[in-house]
Amino acid sequence: MTSARKPKSEAAKLQFRIGYGWDSHEFQRGIPLKIGGVTLPHPKGLGGHSDGDVLLHALTDALLGAVAAPDIGSLFSPSNPKWKGADSAVFLREALDRIRSAGYIVANVDSTLILAAPKIGQHAAAIRAHIADLLSLPIDAVGVKAKTPEGMGTENAAIAHVVVLLEKKSAARSKPQKEER
Ligand SMILES: [Zn+2]
Repeated sequence: MTSARKPKSEAAKLQFRIGYGWDSHEFQRGIPLKIGGVTLPHPKGLGGHSDGDVLLHALTDALLGAVAAPDIGSLFSPSNPKWKGADSAVFLREALDRIRSAGYIVANVDSTLILAAPKIGQHAAAIRAHIADLLSLPIDAVGVKAKTPEGMGTENAAIAHVVVLLEKKSAARSKPQKEER
């Protein structure tokens, strides 16, 4: 429904696009802890939007940001009861649809989690595998690192930073004449 009268976007011709996403959620007792779509054993989970999956939310925002789409909170309002407890993979799929309609595929993803507990190291491989699966990427194109919040005073929160690189699909025959929807 976008107007064709707008000036043609130079960005639509880009071979590569970068995206960045950030998110944080507070730990709460008695709810499951989901990070990167994987349920981790821990007495506290992450509250707030949907299932509180801080890593999938930051990843979704990174993908949306790479194609300058509205962010996760604009597309899926946290005040809409429809999203309470929702599987965050739903948001990720919407972001993937948008980057594909814009003519891009995901090249690779890197991420850093900042949280006091639980230790992510032993779960990193499972999280990487799950994200690789969600994005249809090889596992070596998905980085998941974790740090503890030294001196930040955010011991009761989990924070995620994610960067993504998108590559133009079949660049050889891409024609910048036609704007994506
Ligand atoms: Zn979130």
